[in-house]
This record gives sequence, structure tokens and C-alpha cells, in this order.
Amino acid sequence: MDSQVKPVFAPNSIYLDYAATTAVDRRVLDAMYGIMAQGHTGNAHARHHVYGAAAHRSVEAARQQVAEAIGADPSEIFFTSGATEANNLAIKGIAAHLKAEGRMHLVTSAVEHASVLEPLHELEAQGFELTVLAVKPCGMIEADMIERAIRFDTGLVCVQAVNNEVGVIQPIEEIAVMLKGRGILFQCDAAQALGKKNFNVSPCADDSSLGPDFVSLSSHKVYGPQGIGALYVRAEKKHVLTAVNRGGGQESGLRSGTLPTALCVGFGKACSLLEDDIRHIRSLRWAFLNRLSWLNPTVYGHSHVDWNVPGILNIRFEGIETETLIMALPDLAFGVGAACSSGGAKLSHVVRATTGSEQAARESMRISFGRFTTHQEILRAADLLVEAVEEIREVQGVA
Ligand code: PMP
Repeated sequence: MDSQVKPVFAPNSIYLDYAATTAVDRRVLDAMYGIMAQGHTGNAHARHHVYGAAAHRSVEAARQQVAEAIGADPSEIFFTSGATEANNLAIKGIAAHLKAEGRMHLVTSAVEHASVLEPLHELEAQGFELTVLAVKPCGMIEADMIERAIRFDTGLVCVQAVNNEVGVIQPIEEIAVMLKGRGILFQCDAAQALGKKNFNVSPCADDSSLGPDFVSLSSHKVYGPQGIGALYVRAEKKHVLTAVNRGGGQESGLRSGTLPTALCVGFGKACSLLEDDIRHIRSLRWAFLNRLSWLNPTVYGHSHVDWNVPGILNIRFEGIETETLIMALPDLAFGVGAACSSGGAKLSHVVRATTGSEQAARESMRISFGRFTTHQEILRAADLLVEAVEEIREVQGVA
């Protein structure tokens, strides 16, 4: 696609790590260039002069684009540095409110991102009680599994919209319906849902008041720049949130710090370009899995096509450790565990939670593709993988 800027440093490699991050779309880059290279040096918070006023207008237009992408009002969008910060703000920012209400019980799933689990454990250390629910073998958590865990003092439920490692789609609408009228706050990490499936903050067609109260978003998963994201806060729930970052009182006091105008503009532009890539990505998935089928890999999370985003495949070739595949496949840039767990050596808690097996986590690889992946690339990737697996099996004597 010509909306991609091609990397020059790795001409032979095939990028299969879209769930970790995506290349910036050329059109996004152009929009950002317009801000950064054309004298727009204003601080969006210095609206009294022409530079600041221009930056402010650009940021507000971007806020509108982000809001539109998820069916929100612009006043409900608060820019952050990414989904990690958004998750931290939502979870830590409601601790004081929950304490005051005497709602000291929190519920989440075992397959959440570390930027949800870690802040929840931090609250646990402060006296909250945390229930981390096991998931079904496909990675899914169902509304009734959460309902059984809820108590009179439950204050918060955190469930992601799409899992970043196995691609499973969680039933956000059913959870929202189940939580109705219980006075429990609902936080949803939608970093991997935006652009991969329709995501609306009010998923119930017949009741727009239902849906997550807080939603975390990340720009670099949707062909926008790294270092920017947003927290959606449902208008009626804004009062329960307290700032974590304090300072100049930007973003209505919820997130102090000068907004990066060009990054906001890039994120907004990326949100306006969430055209339907799904059909393209679905056909890539079938092509890839067809080529691999006779090798008989285990594909995690993919028990039903409607329960998964098509661009994330978590695959295991039993008996072959991921490390071996990394060495055998220098031209394939695929994922291992969660990209955000720095150091890379950490075993995937998601594959462990879905399979109950350490060995499965040691042998799993994440293949994720997107807007710029071509059929030619996906078929070459599959061929390289088939070749590598056959060779390794031959050496292991199991061919
Ligand atoms: N949540 C999920 C589900 C993710 O996949 C990621 C990124 N791997 C994050 C949160 C963190 O996002 P960011 O990089 O924008 O902080």
C-alpha cells in the first residue's frame, strides 16, 4: 500500500508484529508534518496568542476524530501518552472514590495487559481485595463468570476488549448489561480493539447509558505515532476520577502536562482512517493458516472466527521452543509473549492462563499482521515457517 513508508534497514524481512506496534500511515505522517515543519510551535494551552490558538484548534480537531472513532463525545476524551498511562489513570484514579464508598473489591481477568494487572496489584497492596478470574481455554471471560465473582462491595471490573496475545474478543456488551444497576465501575482496555473490530463505548443499541465507564486507547496500534493515546471517561463518571499526574491542570485537571500537538494530530488522523481493513486481514489469515495446516500447529484463541480479531494468531509447534524459531527465522519479525514486557524473556501469562501450561508459553509465537501486509509477504512467511519447522523436526528426529 502506498500509504506506508517502507523501512530501508531490513529489505528482506517481513514485519509480523502489528500487535506490538504498527508503521505510521503516510497520511498520518503528512498531517503531523504539517504541524511540526510549518512553524506551528504554539503551546495548545497558550490560547491568548495566535500560535497557541492554532495548536489548540488542531488538538481539539484531533480530539473530535478520536471521539468519533468510538462513538464518544469529545469532552469525554483525555489525551495520555498511551494505553499504559490511560489504564494507570483509570485504575489508580478511582481508588480514593472506591475507598470512600467502601467498595474495596476489584475483579479482573487473568489475561489482562500488565498495565492493568500491575496497577490493580498496587491497589491490592493498599488494602483492596483483588479477584483475578481464570479464562476459558480460548482466552475468553464470560459475563456470568464475572457475575459469580461479584460481591456487595465490588467497586471495579476491568476487562479488555481484545487480547493482545491471542486476539480473543471479550464480550464487552454482555458484561455491560450484566453490570447494569449494580453501581460497579467498568474499565475496558481497548488498545487492541480500535481498528481491528467495531468498537463503540456504548455497545448496547437499545441503551446508550450502558458500556464501559473508562476506555483506554493507543495510537501506535492503529498506524498513528507512538507516545500518544487517550482515556475515554463516560461524562457521568468524571467526578469519580482523581488525577495521577499533577501540575498545570491540563486535560480538565485529569492529566497535567503540555499536550504534544503533532502527536495528537497524528492520533486523530489515524482514527479518521480506520477504514475497513478487516476483509484484507481476514484473507491473509486464511492464506497463512492454509499453508501451515498440514504441519498441524496449535492455534490459541481461535476456536471460533467470530470471537477473534483476524490479525492476531498465536501459534505453537509442539516440541519447538520459540527461541529456536527466532534463530531459524531471521527474516520474520514476529512476536514473543507481550511486546511491552521489556527484556522479552518473560513467558506469556496469557498463553499460560489459556493453556495452563508453561511449556505452551515457551513454545508459542505471535504472528500479527495488518494494513500494509501483502499476500506475497504472508505466503513467503508461511513458506519460511514451514521450511524451518520441517528442518527443526528433522534434526529432532520427529519428522
Ligand atoms: N493494553 C494492551 C492490550 C496492549 O496491547 C498494549 C500495548 N502492547 C497496551 C495496553 C499498552 O499500550 P501503550 O504502548 O500505548 O502504552
